[in-house]
Amino acid sequence: MKQISTFGSSSYQISDLQLLRNSDDDAAVARLLAHCPIMLLEADEAVTESNRARLYILLRGALSVASDTRTGMADGTVSKLLPGESVGEQSVLDEEANLSSITALEQSEVLVVEADLVWQLIDESNVLARNLLRLLSFRIRAANAQLRRRQKLGEFYRQLSMIDGLTGLYNRAWLNDLLPTMIATAHGSNAPLSLIMIDLDHFKKFNDSHGHVAGDEALRAAAHVLSGALRPTDFAVRYGGEEMMVLLPDTSDKVAVSVAERLCERMRSAQVFGDMRLPLPHITASFGVAALQAQQNEQELIATADAALYRAKEQGRNRVAV
Ligand code: GH3
Ligand code: MG
Ligand code: MG
Repeated sequence: MKQISTFGSSSYQISDLQLLRNSDDDAAVARLLAHCPIMLLEADEAVTESNRARLYILLRGALSVASDTRTGMADGTVSKLLPGESVGEQSVLDEEANLSSITALEQSEVLVVEADLVWQLIDESNVLARNLLRLLSFRIRAANAQLRRRQKLGEFYRQLSMIDGLTGLYNRAWLNDLLPTMIATAHGSNAPLSLIMIDLDHFKKFNDSHGHVAGDEALRAAAHVLSGALRPTDFAVRYGGEEMMVLLPDTSDKVAVSVAERLCERMRSAQVFGDMRLPLPHITASFGVAALQAQQNEQELIATADAALYRAKEQGRNRVAV
């Protein structure tokens, strides 16, 4: 980075500098900037930082600004600076070190304004203060928007990790996360909560006869039956292998049994398609229903539903037991 001239001896105008645009008196501002050096950077050359805070205004070329003080987030963000734009305002204002690493993307000319002079400009011409405020407010907005995007993305991935890939139902991680809360809510508000445990019948045989791929199709069809038959306030979970679970908040065991009966009926009439969309034999499932009892925790509730499911199997499968 070498000095090639000063602002006063160059042909650049105040109107070329975004931060100083629309001043009442360009000549006065130009006088203050007259001795500021203009540095030449070759492509890929980095701005050599001084230990004093400085404002850099790009006059010609393009700069890459990494880990950006422009957005206020030192997080590896890279942005491209175009002629008229500046970097380093924030470090001038708060006297913190400039965290950005600035590199020329092509041969560039940069005006360097030392912090003292920036403050002098702020004192003597309110145009810089006004433009700086506007710029900083724009950057705060941009940083906030980026933060919100990241939060949303984080939430998206969190949800993704809570959903079973094969069936699209909630998975065990979701259950571990949400069931204790649902139970606490039910206990707290004295509201009923029912749970239906579901296990496909003779599913090993289905896999053995039709293959694992057809088995996966059957599992998807079974999940579809559940998710298609529930109210928006109910939840269907893939508990493991071919075991699924339905959670029914605000639902008594009596109502839960009728929901289970309806699911059982729909399960046995659901059509599963295999290779070439050829229909496969129907599947059935067994259902165990349990309603949350006073003082019960999630393991006890699940164990009660499991015991009911075991009875449904014992009684001949393809049915509901309580
Ligand atoms: P029961 O009526 O007593 O439940 O008999 P079952 O054969 O269904 O019970 P078992 O637990 O012995 O077998 C469950 C089978 O489910 C074993 C496994 O092959 C199959 N299974 C579990 N997860 C998957 C899966 O993700 N895909 C496929 N295709 N099969 C699965
Ligand atoms: Mg099983
Ligand atoms: Mg089974």
